[in-house]
Amino acid sequence: VNEFKNKQVLVLGLAKSGLAAARLLHTLGAVVTVNDMKPLEDNEAAKELELLGLDVICGSHPPTLLEDKKISFVVKNPGIPYSNPIVKQAFQKNIPVVTEVELAYKISEADIIGITGSNGKTTTTTLVYEMMREGEKKPLIAGNIGTVSCEVAQEATKHNVLVTELSSFQLLGTIEFKPKIAAILNIFDAHLDYHGTRAEYTTAKGKIYENQTEEDIAIINYDDQDVCRLGELSKAEKIYFSVSKELTSGAYIKENTLYFNQEKIIDVKEIVLPGRHNLENILAAVAIVKSRGVDTSAIQKVLTSFSGVKHRLQFVDKIHNRKFYNDSKATNILATTKALQAFNEPTILLAGGLDRGNEFDELLPSLTNVKAIVTFGQTAPKLERICTEAGIEVVKRVDNVEQAVFSAFDLSLEGDVILLSPACASWDQYKTFEQRGDIFINAVHKLK
Ligand code: ADP
Repeated sequence: VNEFKNKQVLVLGLAKSGLAAARLLHTLGAVVTVNDMKPLEDNEAAKELELLGLDVICGSHPPTLLEDKKISFVVKNPGIPYSNPIVKQAFQKNIPVVTEVELAYKISEADIIGITGSNGKTTTTTLVYEMMREGEKKPLIAGNIGTVSCEVAQEATKHNVLVTELSSFQLLGTIEFKPKIAAILNIFDAHLDYHGTRAEYTTAKGKIYENQTEEDIAIINYDDQDVCRLGELSKAEKIYFSVSKELTSGAYIKENTLYFNQEKIIDVKEIVLPGRHNLENILAAVAIVKSRGVDTSAIQKVLTSFSGVKHRLQFVDKIHNRKFYNDSKATNILATTKALQAFNEPTILLAGGLDRGNEFDELLPSLTNVKAIVTFGQTAPKLERICTEAGIEVVKRVDNVEQAVFSAFDLSLEGDVILLSPACASWDQYKTFEQRGDIFINAVHKLK
């Protein structure tokens, strides 16, 4: 008998994680009520759960939901704010409110590796997964790309290791969650609309270390003060990584070579993934997998072949000696700045998209290697103004991403980098950044 059998549970908000949590709880014999704002008619997840026999309430959050039943705990979708009336009621009634990762933690027999941070989560999680796989450690992965934790938790045996990407929203909804290895990559001012203050956001991230004990490991970014502060409070064994300082232990760079605990891992020039920010992600990944006994040869194999997570500064192809990179995920100025800093070659930048009312002046310092810009979308005029200010002589406006690829190719010379890093969301022209990136990739392949 598991602790969930015959328990009354409310799953609040479906989407992918709610659906997985509801399914899992149902399998474990819990009595599950599901509540989602989306009406039943166009709610496929709700329909599926109704067929399974769950109590499905859709279209509104009825205020009596917690009064009609004796709910033991609520599984909240990370996107639902704590100001939601039902969530508030649950707190008043002392009913625990958790996210699905808490549930996954309780079910999974596998050790959990948790990775969080403002930026680089998906990349680092994927790197760790690939290195573990190459090192034959039987990893399972959960996160933004791929499956959610509850989907894999049940199949995870003690022979596996569960590599999970965690957002601050997910971490806020944890109580006992205790990863065997926990990493915080960095903390920038992100998501302040949801968390209110930076202090609150930092605290949410810190929850990843909070329950760890001596037998666990905390991976800490030596270069990030906030991360260090959180790490110092941890009871776990601390392993640091740094891109800027030669450490005496942990993961670091010395004379353009990556080391872990004084062992040489790889020359930086052999690493396929571009950019200093990716070097940080790689150092974190190396620290994680090394502390799990993965062979250096497995790490080398991944680093000399892994060309990036799709749409995140992903190397697409080399055509007539021009290298094409898809960074469609760069939906803000900071991300595009990081992408531009990753290259020393003359670069043709493809940028533009949804106008959120901001200017692009912060892009100026990173435009030094940009020899031409091709713009599209609502922000085209604003980007053109900045480029003219930066002294970029070739500025061309086109209608869409496909045209931008062809146009950039016409403007390019051998040795150039052609980079889609829009600095804007895609919604003025495309459904998602993924769709925008796929169009870029297809257009590049048409050039062959
Ligand atoms: P996340 O999953 O946290 O959103 P990703 O791995 O998907 O992060 O990367 C998204 C973007 O964030 C990248 O395209 C890059 O511009 C930026 N980024 C990635 N890693 C870092 C890092 N370590 N520091 C700063 N920016 C980063």
